[in-house]
Amino acid sequence: MARYIFITGGVVSSLGKGLASAALGALLQARGYSVRLRKLDPYLNVDPGTMSPFEHGEVFVTDDGAETDLDLGHYERFTGVAARMTDSISSGRVYSNVLEKERRGDYLGKTIQVIPHVTNEIKDFINIGDDEVDFMLCEIGGTVGDIEGLPFFEAIRQFAQDKPRGQCIFMHLTLLPWLAASGELKTKPTQHSVKELRSIGLQPDILVCRSEQPIPEKEREKLALFCNVRPESVIAAYDLKSIYEAPLAYHREGLDQAVLDAFQIAPAPRPDLTVWQDVYDRIHNTDGEVSVAVVGKYTQLEDAYKSIKEALVHGGMANRIRVNVEWVDAEVFDKKDAAPYLEGYHAILVPGGFGERGTEGKIKAAQFARERKIPYLGICLGMQMAVIESARNVAGLEKAGSEEFDHEAGGKRFEPVVYHLKEWVQGNHQVRRKVGDDKGGTMRLGAYTATLAEGSKVAEVYGATQIEERHRHRYEVDVAYRDKLEENGLRFSGMSPDGRLPEIVEVKDHPWFIGVQFHPELKSKPFDPHPLFADFVRAAKDVSRLV
Ligand code: GLN
Repeated sequence: MARYIFITGGVVSSLGKGLASAALGALLQARGYSVRLRKLDPYLNVDPGTMSPFEHGEVFVTDDGAETDLDLGHYERFTGVAARMTDSISSGRVYSNVLEKERRGDYLGKTIQVIPHVTNEIKDFINIGDDEVDFMLCEIGGTVGDIEGLPFFEAIRQFAQDKPRGQCIFMHLTLLPWLAASGELKTKPTQHSVKELRSIGLQPDILVCRSEQPIPEKEREKLALFCNVRPESVIAAYDLKSIYEAPLAYHREGLDQAVLDAFQIAPAPRPDLTVWQDVYDRIHNTDGEVSVAVVGKYTQLEDAYKSIKEALVHGGMANRIRVNVEWVDAEVFDKKDAAPYLEGYHAILVPGGFGERGTEGKIKAAQFARERKIPYLGICLGMQMAVIESARNVAGLEKAGSEEFDHEAGGKRFEPVVYHLKEWVQGNHQVRRKVGDDKGGTMRLGAYTATLAEGSKVAEVYGATQIEERHRHRYEVDVAYRDKLEENGLRFSGMSPDGRLPEIVEVKDHPWFIGVQFHPELKSKPFDPHPLFADFVRAAKDVSRLV
C-alpha cells in the first residue's frame, strides 16, 4: 500500500505547489523510493484540453493521450515518471463520471449527493495504483477556501480516515509576506489559512512557506505554535535562480527529512543527490550564451509554452551554454518583412498553435530561417507552416495552406497541403473523425511511433530509426504532396509506420532545419535533455560562434 502525501495551498495562488510537489517527488526518489504524482483540479472543465493557453497555460499531453494540467509536466521533468491519464482529474470529470453512473442506474435509486457520491468518486481516483509505488503525491489545485475545492478537501480528509493511521500526511504551501516598511515577515495569513484548513478537518503535518527573506527562528516557532506543526516541519522556500535548484534547496531546508519523520520512517535512507548536483553544475557553469526566438501567438503568457521553454533550457544544459529564450509575436510581421524582427537570433523555433491568427508571420519565420540558413525547429503547427512555406516559395504552389484556416473562416482559399485528418490507426484500432465533432479529447493524442529514414538528419540526432513521441493535432501534412515537395528541397524523413502520415520533414540543403508533427518538448528532462533540443541548441551555438 502506498503512503500518501496531500499537497494543498493557501494565502495566494501561484506559489509553486506543482514545483514543490515535483521536487519532493525527486527527493523521495533520491532516497530510493518509487513515486507517482497526481493533480486534482477543482475547475469544471472536464480537462484543460479545451482551455485557452492564455488562461491556463500549456496543455500537457501524456503518452496515453490525456490532455492535462501543466503541473504534470513539472512532475515528469523532476521525476522522469511518465504521467498517465489516471494522474489528472478535475471537478468536471468527477461530476461527469457521477452523472454517467446515475443515468446508468448504478446508484440504485439513491439521491446523489456531494457526500458520499462525489467524494467517493474522488477517493476512488486517488486510490488507483495504490499498490504500485511507495509514495503517492496528490496536489489539490487552487487555494483552501475556494468553493469548488471543498469536495476535494473533504475527500482527502475521508481518505486519510479510511486508511490505516500514519498512511497519509498533509503538506500546506503558503506565503509569508514581507513588509518592507516595517521590515517584518508576517505569519498571520498563514495562520488564517491553516485555521481554514483545520475548520474542514485537515491538520497539516508540514508547512512550506514561500518567503523573500530568511525566516527568523522566532517566526518559525510562532508558526509552529499557532499552526500546530513541529518547528522542524516549517520549511522555508526561497526564490531560486532556476527551478532545477528546487530539489537541493528543499533538501537543505529539511523537507524530505520532515516528510519521512511525519511518516515515522526511521532510520531514513540516505539520499543520493548526484543527479541534481550535476544539474546544478550545468546551470551554473556555462560557457557563453545563445538567443533563440520562439515565434508564436501566446507570447504574453510564458506558461503557454512552458515545456518548450524548459526543453530549451535542457538543451542549453546539454551544451553547457545559457539559452536566452525570446518570445516573438508572429502577428506583428504577418503583413511585413520579418527580417528586422528575426535578425540576430541564433535559432528560430515555431511552436504548436491553433487557428489562423499569426500564421502568415510564422510562415515568414520559416522562410527567413530556410533562406538565411538559421537553425529552425518547427513543432506541430511549426512543421505545418514550414511545409506550407516550402510548398509556396520553392515548389511553386502559391495557394498552399491549411484546411484548418479555411474551416475557421469558411470558404476555400487554400490548396490543402495540410488537411483535416479523419482516419488513422491507434494501436490496433481505427480512429474516425468528422469536421463537426466535439472539440474535447478528439485530436490525435498521445504517443505514436514514427519510422525515421536511414541517413537522415533526424536519425542521426536521435541515434535511432524508430521513435515514440506525443501528439496533439487535428490536421496533417498531405502525403500526396510528398514527391512534389521532395523534388523541391524537403525531405520526409519520418513517417508513421504505415507510411501515410508525415511525422518529420527536414530541408535538405540546410545546416539544421527540422519540422516535427509531434511535441518532443513534453519528454525532455533536465537530467535527460531531448536529443532534438540538445542538437538544436548545439546548432545555435555553432551559429553564435561564427558571428
Ligand atoms: N492546429 C494544428 C492542428 O490541429 C496544430 C496543432 C498543434 O500545433 N498542436 O493540426
